[in-house]
Amino acid sequence: MDMTQLPSDSHEAVHKVTDAETGLRAIIAIHSTQNGPAAGGLRMKPYDSFEDALGDVLRLSRGMTLKSAAAGLPLGGGKAVILGNPDTEKSPALLRAFGQAVAALHGRYITAEDMGMTPADIAEIATQTQYAAGLQSGSFGSGDPSPITAQGVFNGIRTAAAFRLGSGDLRRRVVAVQGLGHVGWGLCKRLRAAGAEIIVTDISAARMKQAVTCLGARTVDLTEIYSVEADVFAPCAIGGVLNPHTIPQLRVTVVAGAANNQLANMEDADALHARGILYAPDFVVNGGGIVNVATEILKIETAEKFVAEKLKALSTTLNSILNAAKQQNVSPARVAEAAVAQKMRTAQVAE
Ligand code: NAD
Repeated sequence: MDMTQLPSDSHEAVHKVTDAETGLRAIIAIHSTQNGPAAGGLRMKPYDSFEDALGDVLRLSRGMTLKSAAAGLPLGGGKAVILGNPDTEKSPALLRAFGQAVAALHGRYITAEDMGMTPADIAEIATQTQYAAGLQSGSFGSGDPSPITAQGVFNGIRTAAAFRLGSGDLRRRVVAVQGLGHVGWGLCKRLRAAGAEIIVTDISAARMKQAVTCLGARTVDLTEIYSVEADVFAPCAIGGVLNPHTIPQLRVTVVAGAANNQLANMEDADALHARGILYAPDFVVNGGGIVNVATEILKIETAEKFVAEKLKALSTTLNSILNAAKQQNVSPARVAEAAVAQKMRTAQVAE
């Protein structure tokens, strides 16, 4: 297993990891350890190129710093990617080689589950390092974070609806959900239980069919989700979906969802603001997952209480951000990023 450090102006450290024996090609990006160890999931994806993977891991690790800081967790931001198809190129040996790379960082990076990884994969990685979280067993094992993420996103939608639509009561509100995966499905279930109507899309036809029969959802084509008339658009699939192509199509009042890095660029937040669409910053809304993982990393004895308090605090934080943004007449995304930067500067001065 070979590790080389790549130059970076924006991150504390970026490590390229290769292992000829197992075919491992990975990148571990440590954006910041200012608030604590850089925690963030491991994604395995058949990236088009190394540069593509590098761009993804740099964006995602920065997002983790913002997310943990917004949730008030003593954690920094990091992320890792393995280049390859998780269905055909994953092996226990490859995962163990990745685990050795994590071990070599001596706790500066803590890995967990992300797209293309299962709890069993994390357990395999954990045979090589203590710095792996999201385990299903063990005294502090936190398991799948998706249900808590879904609950946090649901709370975020209610907070944003209360702020912009005058009520957090979602009965007969229409929510367009993009992506019916671990989080999107859990969100849809909560929305239906709250009396909302849901319009959904997914690349999986089977999942769409299931949403019709199990959730009474209306389905639309992949690209149609951007132009459906609804109260809320909840991106729960991939990043970069709020961009100059999609924003002019939107016919919603609120955007709040689970996906990381929903904005292609910060200017897209301004474009949403200019259109009068309230954008609830993704790294505040989807913080439930890292809160759940944090119970394991921080060995919290009263995990349930910790999660409940942190989810409540995230709703309060979101509400403050939306209020400040209204007062300043700017996008909530700008307020949220400035608030985190300020928090981190203050902490640095206090050190
Ligand atoms: P997942 O892989 O379980 O689900 C993603 C779903 O989106 C899949 O059903 C997939 O078929 C669908 N999809 C992919 N591309 C699509 C497209 N172009 N249009 C419509 N559907 C598409 O992932 P997840 O765990 O549900 O996470 C969803 C998003 O939320 C991701 O961006 C993830 O990074 C983010 N997120 C997840 C968590 C968590 O706890 N799982 C926490 C924070 C953020």
